[in-house]
Amino acid sequence: MSVAENFRAIKTALGDKIILVAVTKNHGVEAMREAIDAGASDIGENRVQEAAEKFQTLDRQVTRHLIGHLQTNKVKAAVKLFDVIQSVDSQHLAAAIDKAAAAAGKVQDILIQVNVAREEQKSGVLSEDLNALITFVDAAKNLRLRGLMMIAPNFDDVEECRPLFKRMRNLFDELKPAREAFDFLSMGMTHDYKIAVEEGANVVRIGTAIFGARLYT
Ligand SMILES: *Cc1c(COP(=O)(O)O)cnc(C)c1O
Repeated sequence: MSVAENFRAIKTALGDKIILVAVTKNHGVEAMREAIDAGASDIGENRVQEAAEKFQTLDRQVTRHLIGHLQTNKVKAAVKLFDVIQSVDSQHLAAAIDKAAAAAGKVQDILIQVNVAREEQKSGVLSEDLNALITFVDAAKNLRLRGLMMIAPNFDDVEECRPLFKRMRNLFDELKPAREAFDFLSMGMTHDYKIAVEEGANVVRIGTAIFGARLYT
């Protein structure tokens, strides 16, 4: 199946209430255009440099999501390029984004990435540190917290993701009532998005199932 067919099949299955972020990392701008022409409104990229090169030649209007780990030396460029930064996981990073957004005269939409599986060496704030980070973000004038994001571990049995998705959903539901514009629960990728949606995800990030396997050279 073509990129357009893949995209439309998934989009139709998800319906209108779930945001489908088409993850174009390691694919060219042509693939990006193909997805957008098929109806993609949201594009996800992992790396600032790669995204900068592709977005430069992209002649389409879409919402641009940074979904990969962000280093502080790339923050200024990221704030220029992305509508939503999904991978905020420390006060240090949040402070850097706030400062860059202020300099750019922008209020930056962000999600906080939670390491709900407590995987070592993985990005994401631990759940016990989440409230402190939220307090910090709330006080930052140029950040707008739009929700939470998680990446599930790569289990052999994808059902093992389900309790983690449930836990994220609970965190999200606890936080949401007291907050404005706190709308996005971003969880689910190609191998686990169906379970993520069953457990309440309203943003999914899908690469392989739309664009095919990524070639790493
Ligand atoms: C690559 C990536 C995705 C998409 O992964 P697929 O398995 O190709 O769907 C989603 N989220 C993040 C954070 C990623 O890095």
